[in-house]
Amino acid sequence: MTAPIHDAGWRFDHSYARLPGALFTHERPTPVRAPGLVVLNATLARELGLDPDVLQDAGAPVFAGNEIPPGAEPIAQAYAGHQFGHFTNLGDGRAILLGEQIAPSGHRFDLQLKGSGRTRYSRGGDGRAALGPMLREVIVSEGMHALGIPTTRGLAVATTGEEVLRATPLPGAVLTRVAASHVRVGTFQFARAVDDRPLLEALLDHAIGRHDPSLATSTEPALGFLDAVIERQAALIARWMLVGFVHGVMNTDNMAVSGETIDYGPCAFLDTYDPATVFSSIDQQGRYAYGNQPLIAHWNLARLAESLLPLVHADEDAAVEAVRGVLDTFPARCARHTLDGARSKLGLSSAEDGDQSLWDDLLRWMHATRADFTATLARLAAEAGPSVADPAGDPEPRAGDPEAAAAFAAWRARWQARLARERGGLEEAVGVMRRANPVVIPRNHRVEEALAAAEAGDIGPFQRLLDAVRAPFEETAANEPYRGGPPAGCGRYRTFCGT
Ligand code: AMP
Ligand code: MG
Repeated sequence: MTAPIHDAGWRFDHSYARLPGALFTHERPTPVRAPGLVVLNATLARELGLDPDVLQDAGAPVFAGNEIPPGAEPIAQAYAGHQFGHFTNLGDGRAILLGEQIAPSGHRFDLQLKGSGRTRYSRGGDGRAALGPMLREVIVSEGMHALGIPTTRGLAVATTGEEVLRATPLPGAVLTRVAASHVRVGTFQFARAVDDRPLLEALLDHAIGRHDPSLATSTEPALGFLDAVIERQAALIARWMLVGFVHGVMNTDNMAVSGETIDYGPCAFLDTYDPATVFSSIDQQGRYAYGNQPLIAHWNLARLAESLLPLVHADEDAAVEAVRGVLDTFPARCARHTLDGARSKLGLSSAEDGDQSLWDDLLRWMHATRADFTATLARLAAEAGPSVADPAGDPEPRAGDPEAAAAFAAWRARWQARLARERGGLEEAVGVMRRANPVVIPRNHRVEEALAAAEAGDIGPFQRLLDAVRAPFEETAANEPYRGGPPAGCGRYRTFCGT
């Protein structure tokens, strides 16, 4: 009789592991002392064709890396990357790709263990992860998914029964991450740095096969691929900006060519609106500040473009010229996606020239008054009508400062005049706003509270927060405690890299 976990529905393929050997090494996860399953995403398991009941009962050894599921062929992937602007050879230093699960839908998903022990690419690291950061990755990525933003996801978190040594000893854990692929801008940088044209070609074919199959017959596949990645990233970064998400470590190894948000380290959401917001304790220069994200994405995409040059044209000058033409379109594309999304947030289905300044002026007002980004936008639907009924109540700055209140009233009058020109009427506009402005995001103070409880052995607050962030657009009695910003006097929020 086979163990029940063998019949959970595993259906692996290994297209990445069929690439040239320089791109990965065969590695196995390092077993841990006492596997324990703390989080399982049953909905995601079903989407993958895996039986959540079997995983719940018998999955801990697999999710901790002690047992290899049937058909898996564990590897660590090689990649390079610019970290805070400096080029380094990296690779999965604490992660193992089990393989690509073929879901019932026919889609292919990487299943990766993160925190599964040392590999050939570990450099000085211990190959391990702490429970808190792995739970943060789960909660923030689940929130992003519920907001409709492309992202990798967490299938499970297993505790290891071992401590990891950081500033203090912390409980260890392994995250099972699900991704459209783990091919990064840094994977292309690695392939380019090896200076082996067939290797670079094979990687491009692989990425096209997975993410842009329509380019398989293109006469200019490298340029077409660059264009497709640029488009996905422009759309993605716009989505981040529109929900106040700060990635925190936008190194080129943390940018996926799939267009999914990947590698949730010192990430966080804005409470008060300020473009200079930086949460990461290691980002001293503010390189990855909220407002810098479009610029940094553009810079990272230039690294992808450089990596692809030999496949664009045999003549380097011609290649540079061709990629520049595509690369230069990024800022306008990102701005267009952002404006499209901003219009929805303001309840606008049509487009007028003044919409950009209407949006910019609201942001300027939020910045000047230190208004809460999410709450201000969530309240707009309530303020769309003719009477100034304000059921949610005024936030501190507006209530306390007559000048700020007058500025808001003036902005609101402009906005209402603009709304009046919408053909669908107010009701439709309110519907558009409700679908575009979340009331619940994974707020930093709530995330920290949930992680602290989990580290102390109580997973309850984490589960309740997870439930809340899974329905971000709905105001319910249950999510009321998760809607507001941090209590006054919380101080400046900081996150740590979580390694
Ligand atoms: P990150 O900042 O998490 O994107 O990681 C950057 C690089 O450092 C990647 O190559 C990781 O695999 C590696 N890394 C991070 N933490 C560890 C660790 N504890 N042990 C070994 N490698 C690590
Ligand atoms: Mg990374």
